[in-house]
Amino acid sequence: MKTWERIAYREMCGGCGKLLQRDDPVLATTINGLRRKLLRCAECAGPAPPDLPVLGPRQNFTKPMQALKRAIPKDYTNRMLGERE
Ligand SMILES: [Zn+2]
Repeated sequence: MKTWERIAYREMCGGCGKLLQRDDPVLATTINGLRRKLLRCAECAGPAPPDLPVLGPRQNFTKPMQALKRAIPKDYTNRMLGERE
């Protein structure tokens, strides 16, 4: 199955080897039974549809990590040691 999509991470075009950046349109060919997609850039596979939605800027992953840090008590190592006694 062939679908036009925008890539989320840096990938190489399987046709010309061009390094594609986030949000570049690619023609993704999926083969039954294989998870990996074959990617072709717009120059190899023809012009991408103009109405292809843009992914936009990458989400900030530091915020969830800070929330996780707050959830772990600062003395968790002491608590862990204490529990083993
Ligand atoms: Zn290409």
